[in-house]
This record gives sequence, C-alpha cells and structure tokens, in this order.
Amino acid sequence: MQRSVHILFTGEEITEGAGVRLLRLFGHDEAPKLDPFLLLDDFRSEVPEDYRRGFPWHPHRGIETITYILKGDVAHEDNLGNQGVISDGDVQWMTAGSGIIHQEMPKGDKNGVMHGFQLWTNLPATSKMMPPRYQGFTAREMPETRPNKGCRIRVIAGTLYGITGPVTGIVTDPLYCDCTLERGGTFQHDTAEGDTVLVYGIDGHGEIGGTRIENRELACLSPGDEIQIKAPYSPFRCLIMTGTPIGEPVAWRGPIVMNTQAELDQAFAEYRNGTFVQR
Ligand code: MN
Repeated sequence: MQRSVHILFTGEEITEGAGVRLLRLFGHDEAPKLDPFLLLDDFRSEVPEDYRRGFPWHPHRGIETITYILKGDVAHEDNLGNQGVISDGDVQWMTAGSGIIHQEMPKGDKNGVMHGFQLWTNLPATSKMMPPRYQGFTAREMPETRPNKGCRIRVIAGTLYGITGPVTGIVTDPLYCDCTLERGGTFQHDTAEGDTVLVYGIDGHGEIGGTRIENRELACLSPGDEIQIKAPYSPFRCLIMTGTPIGEPVAWRGPIVMNTQAELDQAFAEYRNGTFVQR
C-alpha cells in the first residue's frame, strides 16, 4: 500500500549550543513516534550572528549524529584528536557510542551563508556503549543516480536503485538520501511496511498522496510498502530518511540518550567527575 502523510511537522525556531538559531523539526517530545530517529535540526542563515557562536565542547553518548552540509563550513574537533572541516555537500556520521566530547563550530562561506542539517539516530541497548567512531565523506564520494528523467538522488547511507551510499555499518541501517525532482518528476521506492519514513522539504514544494509538502516542512508517513513523492507544481528537493524502529525505552537528557534513568544519571555523574570517556 502506498504511504500517505500521517503527521506534518513545521518545527520550532530555537536557540541551541552557545547561541545558534536553528529550526528543530522534531526532538525529545516527538521522537517516540519517529523511532529510530531522535532529532532533526535545520540550520540555514545568511547572517553569521545566527550561528558563529557554535556548539562548544559537549558530550554525547548512546546515539549517532549525522551532519550533512549544503553550504558553508563547519569546523569540528573531539577528545579523540579528530579535527577537520566539513563543507558544501559533505557528510559526517558520528557514532557517539560509549561517549565522545566534541565541538562543532559553523563558519559559513565567504558570503556568510551557512546551510546544513543534523539528524540524530538512536542506538539499541546492545550498541549504546560501543566504541565511538567517525565516518566523513566529501560531496564527490557520494554517489548519484537518476532512476528516471525527472529525479536525481544522492545516496548518503543505505541502498537505493542499486546505489549504496558511502556511510556504512550504521547500527539501525537507515536509508538517508537527498532527492531532487524536476517539475513533473516522481520518486518511487519500496519500503518495509513498518519502517519509519520521513520526508523533509528543503526547496520548492512537493506532494505525497495528495498532501502538499512545503519547504521546511517534515512529513512522517503512514505505514505502507511504497513511497511515492511527486512534484506536480514546481521542482522539489527533499531529504528522505527511512529506518526500522528499535522499540526500546528511551531515557533522554540533552546530548545523552540511554534506556534507563539510572544509565542517564551515571553518564552525567561520569561527565562531572571526569570518567565519561571510556578507555
Ligand atoms: Mn554534538
């Protein structure tokens, strides 16, 4: 059965980190409906004042964060000694696992433009304390495919039309891709009936099962085995995310997401007393 729009999220403008203005499409309160996804932030601005204070040193445990940049630079470094800059079209997939402490500092481009997204996916109990790791890929390493004339897709993670994205070994095995439809174009893909499917409009507007999706709107689709996205009135660009629900209890405070309150208390106690990073 073809999926329709179950819930449409318009998000909330918030200030995060040391003072970064961003649009949070979903987070703590909505996440129970969107398992295995936890959070999606869209930070786009032409004013450095909105983002340059960044996200200074902070911990993560129990999750994976995926940063995908359309425009501008984000400098990052962590307690493991990793350091670098991700830029136009690049992706960084960070598995926090047992714990990392890092900072993420948006710098924008030479005109002050910054545009990127951060998605959080949950880790199941068996993987929450896995060793942390990074996977970083540049725009050039991301394969593109044109399954039909009006549709172009960059695959970040997962497999679509026989094309596999560079990010691999993700515990929840999600599909994450960037889809551009020309006016009149259609995207079609089979999914597992019970998987969570999210479509986030990032340019133009499109349609799913008769419901219009605007730029900066996130559609959570109803269960079904087929996704069909159309662009009947204008070109449409969207991010498509699919994942299999983990179905475990969630205990979440700030940047740490565990299964129980005791695990959460332990994580914050370790962070306070300097034993957070596992050796
Ligand atoms: Mn972070």
